[in-house]
Amino acid sequence: MSDTQLAATSVLERVQHVDVLIVGAGISGIGAAYHLTRQAPGKSYVVLDALDSRGGTWWTHRYPGVRSDSDLYTFGYRFKPWRGATLATSEEILHYLDEVIAENGLDAHLRYQHRVTAASWSSEDRRWTVDVTRGDTGEQLRYTTDFLWMCQGYYRHTDPYTPDWPGMDSFRGRIVHPQTWPDDLDHTGKRVVVIGSGATAATLIPAMADTAGHVTMLQRSPTFFFVRPSTNELAETLRALDIPEEWTHEIMRRAMLAEGAEITRMSFESPEELRGLLIDTMRPLLPEGFDVDKHFNPSYRPWQQRIAMLPDGDLFTAITQGKASVVTDQIATFTEKGIRLTSGDELEADIVVTATGFDLSVLGEIAFTVDGTPLDVSQTVTYRGTMFTGVPNLAHVFGYFRSSWTLRADLISDFVLRLLQHMDDKGATVVVPRLRPQDADMELGPYVDPENFNPGYLTRSMHLMPRQGDREPWQLPHDYLVEKEQLPLVDLDDGTLVYE
Ligand SMILES: Cc1cc2nc3c(=O)[nH]c(=O)nc-3n(C[C@H](O)[C@H](O)[C@H](O)COP(=O)(O)OP(=O)(O)OC[C@H]3O[C@@H](n4cnc5c(N)ncnc54)[C@H](O)[C@@H]3O)c2cc1C
Repeated sequence: MSDTQLAATSVLERVQHVDVLIVGAGISGIGAAYHLTRQAPGKSYVVLDALDSRGGTWWTHRYPGVRSDSDLYTFGYRFKPWRGATLATSEEILHYLDEVIAENGLDAHLRYQHRVTAASWSSEDRRWTVDVTRGDTGEQLRYTTDFLWMCQGYYRHTDPYTPDWPGMDSFRGRIVHPQTWPDDLDHTGKRVVVIGSGATAATLIPAMADTAGHVTMLQRSPTFFFVRPSTNELAETLRALDIPEEWTHEIMRRAMLAEGAEITRMSFESPEELRGLLIDTMRPLLPEGFDVDKHFNPSYRPWQQRIAMLPDGDLFTAITQGKASVVTDQIATFTEKGIRLTSGDELEADIVVTATGFDLSVLGEIAFTVDGTPLDVSQTVTYRGTMFTGVPNLAHVFGYFRSSWTLRADLISDFVLRLLQHMDDKGATVVVPRLRPQDADMELGPYVDPENFNPGYLTRSMHLMPRQGDREPWQLPHDYLVEKEQLPLVDLDDGTLVYE
């Protein structure tokens, strides 16, 4: 027997079958495991993750000050009260996830260092075959499963997105990306330039500014910021009154959702009023004479890209104290000493942080095939932003842009579990979304309308995403308050889901 044949035999000998296979042990995958345990206790399952621990985003990112940009009442699960401050550090989020794992006995199902490399659906076998490579041993494993629940997030955890600027090789300092923060990086007393002005830059800059020599935020164009107190008066009051924490969690969720809904409504109906409000809150926190329009008044409508949160306006405090500054300009080239801008100015730096975002990953860089044909997700139509036409027994989680991701992860979990129960009730083993005859000529558009929301990582990769139709269920509303009502009532027998 050849080595290849031997290896193949050893893989096949170890094939494990599970009813449901969850890919990803981030907030979505752990949530999926919790709901599965509660709502379908009889089903066997595993959660596979390529990383060496749980948490996904909150394990990968280790830059100074890393924290949530959403309130934890809605970024936390609906089933587990959040007891901390409104925004949370990655450490606090990981601790919260650890509690969910421990309280619900999920550990036994979690497998780390398990990278899924391929998944093939066989209509004959009515199941998926999933190939896995262990990160620690290099071992090849194989699972089969009736249902694949993709909780792989939306960006590549392995490679961050860094544009290729001229002269980068000549720079004598260090260039780091927030997604791959080096353990040994000491920024004490150093001149730091942070390229970018999104939520990550806004988190990093105040966190580095206290000990760095100086931090400069270099942005091509401005971002909207929303200043809010780091402590929430309503939460403090409810806690002081010793209200049961489940109630406090629910009340705070509703308060946060109402606030978010009002900001979203204004962003569509009276964007200029919202722009004015956001700018007016910033102005008094910035130094006298600061050019707010140049640096903090974007050309796009508020919420067309994510509005970054500033607890107590910490970024503005760092600017007012002279520890940080903002430059709005374009990079002409890196030099030995720093960055030369198109205006001709040069920013000298010891460390350059490229807070330039990530590369979208549609389904976790897995080679999918359906009956031997490679799956090209961009040729499919989305079923409610959670399944794909022509792809059997697979659901995926994609959260909201303007509300917390987890709100949708919880809703999708309910939907998937209702669907699995429905299949069991019907005695079906296969479910696949298919366009009905009346949908055949439906106009198809991008997964996310760029007029609605258009951050760089989406614009760069929209061609990789499934298409969206002009009617239910081939659309994704991007609105929790709509989906919260809609998803639990979805008619699973409306002819768009085909069962066998
Ligand atoms: C720095 C940062 C801050 C953010 N802050 C917020 C916020 O405040 N609010 C908000 O709503 N959203 C925020 N987001 C978006 C955030 O990613 C999500 O909210 C949420 O954490 C995503 O959870 P997830 O479990 O779906 O995905 P992830 O956290 O991305 O986890 C996915 C997991 O799947 C694993 N995986 C992927 N492919 C494979 C494979 N082929 N095989 C095995 N495992 C695989 C990955 O290793 C990873 O552990 C933030 C994102 C970043 C980068």
